[in-house]
Amino acid sequence: MQRFLISETAKHVGQKVKVAGWVNVRRAHGKILFIDLRDRSGILQCVFVPTNKDAYDKAQDIRTEWVVELAGQIVSRPEKMVNANIETGKVELSVEEVNVLAKAETLPFDVTTDGMEINEEIRMKYRYLDLRRPRLQQNLIMRHKTVKFVRDFLSAEGFIEIETPMLTKSTPEGSRDFVVPSRLQPGKFYALPQSPQQYKQLFMVAGMERYFQIARAMRDEDVRGDRQFEHTQIDMELSFVEREDVIELNERMIITIIKTLFPEKVIQEIPFPRLTYKEAMETYKSDKPDMRKDKNDPNLLAFCWVIDFPFFEKDDPASAQGSGEAKEGGWTFTHNPFSAPKPEHMQNLLDKKNIGEILTTQYDVALNGVEIGGGSIRNHTAEALQKVFEIMGYESKEIHEKFGHMLDAFSFGAPPHGGIAYGLDRFLATLLNEQSIREAIAFPKTGDGRDLMMQAPSEIYPKQLKELHINVNQKSSHQAKTEQKMKRRNIGARRNQKLKIKKRS
Ligand code: ASP
Repeated sequence: MQRFLISETAKHVGQKVKVAGWVNVRRAHGKILFIDLRDRSGILQCVFVPTNKDAYDKAQDIRTEWVVELAGQIVSRPEKMVNANIETGKVELSVEEVNVLAKAETLPFDVTTDGMEINEEIRMKYRYLDLRRPRLQQNLIMRHKTVKFVRDFLSAEGFIEIETPMLTKSTPEGSRDFVVPSRLQPGKFYALPQSPQQYKQLFMVAGMERYFQIARAMRDEDVRGDRQFEHTQIDMELSFVEREDVIELNERMIITIIKTLFPEKVIQEIPFPRLTYKEAMETYKSDKPDMRKDKNDPNLLAFCWVIDFPFFEKDDPASAQGSGEAKEGGWTFTHNPFSAPKPEHMQNLLDKKNIGEILTTQYDVALNGVEIGGGSIRNHTAEALQKVFEIMGYESKEIHEKFGHMLDAFSFGAPPHGGIAYGLDRFLATLLNEQSIREAIAFPKTGDGRDLMMQAPSEIYPKQLKELHINVNQKSSHQAKTEQKMKRRNIGARRNQKLKIKKRS
């Protein structure tokens, strides 16, 4: 007999069906036994009566979270037993056959609640059980639908999705790189991408014109608020565009996503209001202002664009993340070194004059006080890009070592181009009214980057270290562990730090 999904059963009253899933709840009413069976589509009440002796006897042993297959007739429930809250609330399964597919130990926690009452470390350790709860299943389904929607939307706009390498070169993108030792090239390292920034620009040089990718971005940042070492971006780049074109397309995409997939949401203002960085800071004291008129409404979405950021700021040595992108005390970029200045500021960039006043073409999009995306129009001439690095204090030799490939590429005819990337996890967490981005990610890590389920990071075999030409300094790794512990304790204090433009957050 073919298996039916639970959500389909209500359409088959009077028929014999087979369903399979997990025992959500089991209870007895006098001589009658009830099992609420759960599969990916919903929950179905299944009834065992003594007259179906074989099934009834087998059901005596069944416990919650066992995996069972049940066959029987779908019948309408008596009027007063109807449960209007669930899709299958009008029917039940009168069970005739039982097949136990797998038994289960008692779970470490209840999976029928929303899970918020459970210690998060335990939820993370048993994430595969945590994901059984309907709230998280729903979150992952909405994540899938959003990604699929974006793929379809952008494909219809002429974009193609292209993958970019995970093993790449260390570049200054505002955060610390994760590095991967090379076995075949002793002493050399790859870096995991902080974003596909350079590759996507090189696609423009290659003439692809419209690229997108659902891309992973890895940044080894210090523990800070609701962040993850790896996050997923909706990343895109377009040729022959100006700021207006990118904003128009993206605003349309966001509005269509909300109207199609989150119809209960209300967008406060369309077109999205635009604020300059200066206005945002003066009025809201934030470069990602929360513009909601009613902060108690969970369905109100207040989007805004923030534009006209300063291109450069004086480097703050305390915030340097180790990628060595700026010379101490000199200028560093606020968002992205590959951005172009606003056209009217190009001359200042080329002349390296009035540096503090140069505004970038950067545009950020904020939602309810959360930065969900950002991008810019890029410098597409080698000359302008070179000036950015010169302003940051790089020597000519270093510029060529680190960015020679970009400068070369731009010397072979690069079209004007620009793009944007969204932090998908954060965007979804906001739409799903979740407090933490971890609730929108299948297998998140703790705030300090541990995977409690896989026990990562972990030590590796001496043989592996040897192959990679690595010596671990035991003394300093002990010291680092102690420092990490101290840091965890100090996090609270650091959260209250004074506000500052965040580099490419
Ligand atoms: N690569 C940038 C980021 O990851 C986004 C962009 O400018 O397109 O924030």
